[in-house]
Amino acid sequence: MVLVSGIALVDLIGSGLDRVARPGELAFCSVRPSIGGHACNVSSDLVRLGLARSRLRVVYPVGRDIFGQFLADHLGGLGIRVDPVVSRRAPTSLDLILVARGEDRRYHADPGANVEMTAAPVLRLLERHRPLVYYAGGVGLLGRFDRELPAVLRRARQLGAMTFVDVVSPYRKSWAFLRRVLPHTDVFHCNADEAGALAGGRDPVQAAAAIRRLGAANVLVTLGGQGAVAAVAGSVLRLPAFKVKVVDPTGAGDAFSAGVILKAYARLARGRRPDELTVGEWTRILVYASACGAVCTTGVGTTTAVRARDVAALAKTQGPALVREIATPARARTG
Ligand code: ADP
Repeated sequence: MVLVSGIALVDLIGSGLDRVARPGELAFCSVRPSIGGHACNVSSDLVRLGLARSRLRVVYPVGRDIFGQFLADHLGGLGIRVDPVVSRRAPTSLDLILVARGEDRRYHADPGANVEMTAAPVLRLLERHRPLVYYAGGVGLLGRFDRELPAVLRRARQLGAMTFVDVVSPYRKSWAFLRRVLPHTDVFHCNADEAGALAGGRDPVQAAAAIRRLGAANVLVTLGGQGAVAAVAGSVLRLPAFKVKVVDPTGAGDAFSAGVILKAYARLARGRRPDELTVGEWTRILVYASACGAVCTTGVGTTTAVRARDVAALAKTQGPALVREIATPARARTG
């Protein structure tokens, strides 16, 4: 069993704009809702990549409104069993995304029910399902849950889970809250900006090694089209990216995380413990995860392009060359 928890939101994507409307002006464009947030994206990616639906549970916070219903309908339509935590006070989080031609996306998010999340519903699911992997995504935006996360992760490990933490820039608090979280984390994922903010400095290799020294057993820093850095037990790996025709990079980090979860889960289900995974096994896991991230960027939307057969085809054609290009930066080797 894999238990996924984390932020949920509905992206309202306005695209096809020649330019963003001026004050008082009306601009016509396509406006479409789409699922968003780590919990929704990662769980959707996991079933798209082939995880049996019966092996997955998802818990996320929403409001008592049609947007919460939209998320449940969408994930339910994929056959995913969801456990929404419905807030009485806050609405489902919405992210208004404007895409003007030739410009980077503009995001305008209401954190909504995400900041109302607490640990109790997650702890109940951990006790009931005793998952082999527990994934907490969107950490930093989850209010009280973030403060309670060390205890959640400790309990997840006691029950036999590999713990996986994925962060966003902290909302109304500093990065310091993660110092209590990292010692209970088997896999920590962030991007280069987040790694720099957390560990100081701009070099992702040094930042990954520094975050590992703060207590996370394995640290994965993804760098978009530049690939990824992984500080795992025994080594630091620098992976280049697969070469793909990028259409929309949104969601690549969640597809990468889903790839890590799927391949790690397969090993744990065969009886391996998280701390037994070798550098060779991590290399295979990370190459697959990178293929998931790369495939995700080839279509519009956070999860739509993620398909198991496309990931397998990419890993088969470019994987061996990519493995040969993996570097182990000597100055940041870890013990
Ligand atoms: P996030 O969405 O968390 O910022 P990234 O953009 O770093 O995540 O992407 C995660 C992974 O997806 C990268 O490490 C890489 O393997 C893959 N990826 C992302 N963008 C590209 C790209 N332009 N070309 C090839 N692979 C990519």
